[in-house]
Amino acid sequence: MSTASVLHGISAEVAAFLLAASCAGCDEPGQLLCTACRAQLVPRPLRERTPGGLELRAALAYEGVAARCIRRLKGDGETLLARPLGAALSSVLSPVVAPSTWIVPVPTSRGAFRRRGYRVPELLIRRAGECPQRVLSLVRRSADQRGLGARARAQNVHGAMRARAEGDGAEAILVDDVVTTGATLDEAARALHVAGFTVVCAVALAATPKRAVFGEDSSGTHRRHDESHQ
Ligand SMILES: [Zn+2]
Repeated sequence: MSTASVLHGISAEVAAFLLAASCAGCDEPGQLLCTACRAQLVPRPLRERTPGGLELRAALAYEGVAARCIRRLKGDGETLLARPLGAALSSVLSPVVAPSTWIVPVPTSRGAFRRRGYRVPELLIRRAGECPQRVLSLVRRSADQRGLGARARAQNVHGAMRARAEGDGAEAILVDDVVTTGATLDEAARALHVAGFTVVCAVALAATPKRAVFGEDSSGTHRRHDESHQ
């Protein structure tokens, strides 16, 4: 097959794909992410602390266009969105990474991996230009975090993770896609600490806006959120 005919085949596929696509942020047809929505993914970093006191930096608030794009990546298999979202993550991740730092994604449950075929935090880390190290694994299933308040979430995930490597004092940064209460990050930090790692901080693509859940009991609210471990 000639180069020209290969290119012709590819461009026809791309054209068909674009025709079928609609903007993840606003549903405008014809492209995966329109210019206006892309501008909404420009990082506006948030700094928080988890209930356990771990410092957390998030690139975006989990609302509006950012939340819709993340849901398309997590729920609809729209992996091309990992590139612009990974770029946003990189703005908070790259500044805290040193050459010897382990970049540890929060583990994905087997069910979620089977459903999606990819691990969202790992994909985002790669698209942020860094190398994820799959140190943590889930040792037991925890119930769906949605609908649970902050304290119930912490109890639900406690003891759910284990590190598969020895840290010997090495520095680690935890990475997750969406942080709601921070209970999952605290459990991940606990498991790393037990294995001898020093957890420097946690980094997330997005965090639910502060007043919604951080440090409060959210059981009375019915906000939409989805942490990555379900
Ligand atoms: Zn749009």
